[in-house]
Amino acid sequence: MAQFCLILFGPPGSGKGTQAALLRGRLGLAHISTGDMLRARIASGDDLGQEAAAYVNAGALVPDEVVNRMVEDRIQQADCERGFILDGYPRTVAQARLLGAMLKARGVRSLVVHLRVSYNEITARLSARRQCARCGSISNTSHGEFCVTCGSRMALRQDDRPEVVKQRLEAYEAQTKPVLEYFREAGVKIFEVEGGGRTPEAIAMEIEKAVEVDAGANVRTA
Ligand code: AMP
Repeated sequence: MAQFCLILFGPPGSGKGTQAALLRGRLGLAHISTGDMLRARIASGDDLGQEAAAYVNAGALVPDEVVNRMVEDRIQQADCERGFILDGYPRTVAQARLLGAMLKARGVRSLVVHLRVSYNEITARLSARRQCARCGSISNTSHGEFCVTCGSRMALRQDDRPEVVKQRLEAYEAQTKPVLEYFREAGVKIFEVEGGGRTPEAIAMEIEKAVEVDAGANVRTA
């Protein structure tokens, strides 16, 4: 059976991680977050982590070669057998090109979902967002100080501080938004989703329906 790749695309804070967490079990797909992978490497303090920290903490993109290699290795792991959700990748046209070649070589079908959220809402969301340093769960200040999954204290991500958010949004405008144009020119289907003003569950249902139509019997829907 052909693998399926759901590409969650959108600015920082548009809900990619939240949607991936809601959809992975329902669709039977692995969740691949390049941001989570980089944070794990930074926490481990290895060479790649030390190199990546300077970029991540400044709100800049990590070089394409580093991220491309990580994704190339990750999609070959056993839990990706049915397919995978990409959260935060590709973020540059060079990454999108490589991904396109990887998917083609492996006969993977894909769907791009573009989560649209206004910059005002993003800024408000990111200042209230909290993440568990131990298990990576995402929450916000209205849900208390402790992680509902593992009980650890929730913290503001280093790069969710307002001065870094500004840099991340600039990186999105300059380097990531052009990927949409690249997809369009390459004839890749883009499913546009309103990512603000309603519950994450309502958004997940809309995406699930689109996947069902696009992937047909290849993907399990709950
Ligand atoms: P995220 O958790 O997806 O918001 O990613 C956090 C940070 O990790 C980004 O601001 C970048 O510094 C880095 N990062 C994550 N994914 C990528 C990617 N595909 N390309 C380059 N840098 C990335």
